[in-house]
Amino acid sequence: MNKRALLEWYGQSRRDLPWRRTRDPYAIWVSETMLQQTRVDTVLPYYARFLRELPDVMSLAGAPEERVLALWSGLGYYRRARMLHAAAKTVAGEHGGRLPEEADALRRLEGVGAYTAGAIASIAFGKRAALVDGNVARVLARLFAIEDDVKRTAGTARVWAIAERLVAEVDGPVGDWNQALMELGAMVCTPRDPRCGDCPVAAGCEARALGIAGELPRVSAKRRPLTVKRVALVIASASHVVLARRRRGALFGGLWEPPLAEGVDPRPLASALGIRTALRASGRVVHVLSHRRMEVDVFVTALGKRRRWAPPGEEYDAVELVRVDEVGSRPHSTLARKVLRTAGVLPLAKAPGVGLRSHSK
Ligand code: SF4
Repeated sequence: MNKRALLEWYGQSRRDLPWRRTRDPYAIWVSETMLQQTRVDTVLPYYARFLRELPDVMSLAGAPEERVLALWSGLGYYRRARMLHAAAKTVAGEHGGRLPEEADALRRLEGVGAYTAGAIASIAFGKRAALVDGNVARVLARLFAIEDDVKRTAGTARVWAIAERLVAEVDGPVGDWNQALMELGAMVCTPRDPRCGDCPVAAGCEARALGIAGELPRVSAKRRPLTVKRVALVIASASHVVLARRRRGALFGGLWEPPLAEGVDPRPLASALGIRTALRASGRVVHVLSHRRMEVDVFVTALGKRRRWAPPGEEYDAVELVRVDEVGSRPHSTLARKVLRTAGVLPLAKAPGVGLRSHSK
């Protein structure tokens, strides 16, 4: 495999992304955490806002969790934000605010897995550390014609072994090498229809030589996501809405949302909240998580004079009346935002963060 050709291609063709303009380990750590399971164009506005509000390890370590979750609201996989926050406290308390440089030490931080440790060590500190994400796994599976499912143990071990061998051999900046493999996967060696004609390493690609590039990597049959049905009750006036906070440890723990309950009948939820006003069905929200598909029927009822509510179930630990223009400053999920839009409480927004009030220092 012609490694120099790949590095040269990366030097000429790489996308200009904000986290590629910095060697700040904290900024790279934030970007790598946000980019897990999430598209680059989705991450861009969140990354900019997060670094504006919490520009270094110490500011993140000292921030209340509510604020960190609010900055993450809409990005999904909120466990990432909680772990990043916990790890920042560890870095502040045990490492004097400086991230460790070696992948092994980075891996001991909360939420930092093998990929993220390799990314920070190689990109921020120039260490000879390998990484494998979905893009790299696909590229290596094709370059070396690996027939194993790269998401299963044996296939994962094979691609990691190859990634480590390549990193040990590469003559050039290791961070650039790792990013070149990822960029090739994102831009040329794409999941469907790899553009082998534009590929800088096509001459050494085994899958291409065998005519099976489009068939790799092989994946085992996926389980269909489980469908779960929920009802949401939006109690609102033109200016205010009732939100409940999910208890820590529950799915979406720490996030605010209109109260939800299992099933398709909204009356038990209304009864638990002491609501006696008429309920109006306003539509259905479908929200797909990694292993489940949530179908949420949204019901709306008028906010009367009442100002206090008890949590309507064990998964909630607080209920508050919130001004509609302050919903954005509370941590909330994309699902909650979809429910509020379906209920007509929030307007349609074109991009993440639009219409949300940002924290100011
Ligand atoms: Fe991927 Fe095709 Fe390049 Fe092989 S030749 S690495 S399949 S783009």
